[in-house]
Amino acid sequence: MDFEISDKMKIIIGMINEFVDNELIPMEQDFLSKPLNSLAPEIEKKRSLVKQMELWAPNHPKQYGGMGLDLIEHALVSEALGRTPLGHFVFGCQAPDAGNIEILNMFGTKEQKEKYLRPLVEGKIRSCFSMTEVDMPGSNPVMLETTAAKDGNDYVINGQKWYSSSADGSEFAIVMAVTNPEAPPYLRASMIIVPTNTPGFNLVRNISVMGHAGEGYFSHAEILYQSCRVPQTNLLGQEGHGFVIAQERLGPGRIHHCMRWIGICNRVFDLMCSRAVKREISAGKTLATKQIIQSWIAESAAEIESARLMVLHAAWMIEKVGASAARKEISLIKFMVAGVMQKVIDRALQVHGGLGMTDDTIISFFYRHERAARIYDGADEVHKISVARRILKEYEGRKVK
Ligand SMILES: Cc1cc2nc3c(=O)[nH]c(=O)nc-3n(C[C@H](O)[C@H](O)[C@H](O)COP(=O)(O)OP(=O)(O)OC[C@H]3O[C@@H](n4cnc5c(N)ncnc54)[C@H](O)[C@@H]3O)c2cc1C
Repeated sequence: MDFEISDKMKIIIGMINEFVDNELIPMEQDFLSKPLNSLAPEIEKKRSLVKQMELWAPNHPKQYGGMGLDLIEHALVSEALGRTPLGHFVFGCQAPDAGNIEILNMFGTKEQKEKYLRPLVEGKIRSCFSMTEVDMPGSNPVMLETTAAKDGNDYVINGQKWYSSSADGSEFAIVMAVTNPEAPPYLRASMIIVPTNTPGFNLVRNISVMGHAGEGYFSHAEILYQSCRVPQTNLLGQEGHGFVIAQERLGPGRIHHCMRWIGICNRVFDLMCSRAVKREISAGKTLATKQIIQSWIAESAAEIESARLMVLHAAWMIEKVGASAARKEISLIKFMVAGVMQKVIDRALQVHGGLGMTDDTIISFFYRHERAARIYDGADEVHKISVARRILKEYEGRKVK
């Protein structure tokens, strides 16, 4: 077992941490209080700086302008960038584009790669992933109502989606729609690239989530596809293979998310400890002298460290045996790290008292936005059921002494 981080990665992580501290964290107060559009020029400047430093698109293929880091290397990057909500976007490795880049790279045709993948990696355009539906359970994605019917050389798409994150301002959506209704459930749906200027692509609204509808990259849209017609050449991969492709998207994506959450834990842990040693709660006594606060700090430290090691181990498993064979590890970290993050953010907020509820620190933003971690990419319960089934299967017919 080797926990050593390579010299190359030490340098990269050092540069990223410095950039996050000096360039991005100082922008957070504006990010929390001003419309996102008003910050767009400043964000673009930061993105240019990242490109000049040759740290752009760390996890994306070199051939399209990324750094080509492997999964474990990018996990460490994701942890460093997760300390601020602006991190992944400014470095060109944000979801949902990151997942779309992966599947376009794996399954896209030459034309699709030139038209969509290249400008996406370069950060010239954005995209969204449009699978979840208003009236159908996202936890059981084979129950899709959206259809893509063949008509001449085209697909005609009809359906209602929501939570298509970052659709506002995106150039295209990758839409999951039923193309083969008679096939077995997991072979019924396909992924189709739909440019957002296609007639029939109707962005109904940015959904208000935890009191804020957001805009641009930081938003979640409801989309009505009404006789939305695209050429059949916009099919991604094979027809009926939407779920096969979706599986590819989720493995590495969960590592990125989980390490981003560890980054959030690290940030709020720092804030919690620094507040505890400063805040006098009685004459000459700070919060840090109280055992209950010490207990939260010790528990948080242990939970963050163990969650971090679990994620790095899952990333190592994916690299060694592939995402499919590492399904148990991937499910374990998904609910485990989301839960740890929620607890640590909550404790940090509590230690800050009334200040924790304000937007004068980043903690309340994380508290609101990261609650969703226990729902997207598979709700906690779905992952727990999946892990328990796998474990219990190992006991069937096995004698335990
Ligand atoms: C912030 C955010 C961003 C998102 N981004 C995207 C995106 O970009 N693209 C996209 O397509 N979708 C996106 N989603 C949607 C997300 O994938 C779904 O919300 C998720 O899959 C759950 O589906 P659902 O909301 O329909 O809940 P349901 O499937 O209705 O489930 C509701 C609850 O039921 C429980 N549950 C479900 N199944 C079981 C079970 N078998 N046993 C016991 N309990 C169960 C869970 O607690 C679950 O939370 C996003 C969601 C959020 C919150």
